[in-house]
Amino acid sequence: MFCVECGKEGPIFRNGVCLSCYLKHTQFSKGPAILDITCCPRCSSYKNKNTWIHEPFHDILKRHIKDAFSISPELKNVEIRTKCNEQNRVLLCTVSISGFLQEYQITEQHSLTVRIRHNTCNICSREAGGYYEAIIQIRAEKRAFTDEELQTFRSTVENIVEQNQKDGKRGLFITDIDVKREGLDFFLSKKTTAFSIAKKLQEQFGGNFKQSASMVGMKDSREVYRMTYLVRIPAYRNGDFFSYDDSFLMIVSLHEHKVRCIDLSTWTKRVIDGNEILPSKIFGGKELIREMIVVSQSKNEIQLMDPKIYTTVEIRKPTSTPVNTQIVKTVRLDDFLFLVPE
Ligand SMILES: [Zn+2]
Ligand SMILES: [Zn+2]
Repeated sequence: MFCVECGKEGPIFRNGVCLSCYLKHTQFSKGPAILDITCCPRCSSYKNKNTWIHEPFHDILKRHIKDAFSISPELKNVEIRTKCNEQNRVLLCTVSISGFLQEYQITEQHSLTVRIRHNTCNICSREAGGYYEAIIQIRAEKRAFTDEELQTFRSTVENIVEQNQKDGKRGLFITDIDVKREGLDFFLSKKTTAFSIAKKLQEQFGGNFKQSASMVGMKDSREVYRMTYLVRIPAYRNGDFFSYDDSFLMIVSLHEHKVRCIDLSTWTKRVIDGNEILPSKIFGGKELIREMIVVSQSKNEIQLMDPKIYTTVEIRKPTSTPVNTQIVKTVRLDDFLFLVPE
């Protein structure tokens, strides 16, 4: 067969012409000369169709090219490459589109001007507008928080939010933090995250969890609720000493209502319901611990000396195991002296 165009003898590809003649006057890709890409000036995310995504410019440009260019389905294994130079506040780009038609590699180049439009994204405008879906309230049971506790709660919540943001949870932010005498209020943009943070706080610090909803309006004919998650932190803290059932106990861990303790006179473990710990029976925490020097010991007794006033005292040991340190930790509760386990 002869090609009707170049007259060479060989296989005919299509319409009476050989493959190389076919390639000469066929355009496989077509696209606009100008492309607009919208970028949020606050968070640098890019608009992609109806959503905003956070990814490198290079990737978002490719997405836009794929959408704006028509590429012939005859072309297989298509690859898009771009090279851009900034000039007069626009990007002058060369777009190379290449692919295979049978074993022939075809590359077509297009000049493209990319204009970057600035527009605040939906999430940043929400953030700027003080948007929130939920409030986490942290309160204490029958006591005020120490500054240290307030700081701990605050950094716990902020760290979880930061971790979620790093993991790519878009639209999550703390709108406001209200520090009050009675506790803390966190205003969060996502109720699901607020819920899991509140549960985590309860797990870590013990206490009660309560949720309530209030209707704030309608959206797409559905009622919109704002949630309040209240975590009521108990009167006791991890490490506190308290009396219960004629015993003196030290809290070693908290889990919601379950309180794990050590009985100071025997160093045995106990688990009790936190609701049974009366605030009036709590002595305090690690600030009560004093160090003392071991003078001597027998199987059941130990003699200790107060390094500040040099008086000695003999007490029963919680276990018959020998104490093998020279300094021990002690606590005095209701005039009883106890050894405190490490
Ligand atoms: Zn030909
Ligand atoms: Zn934004």
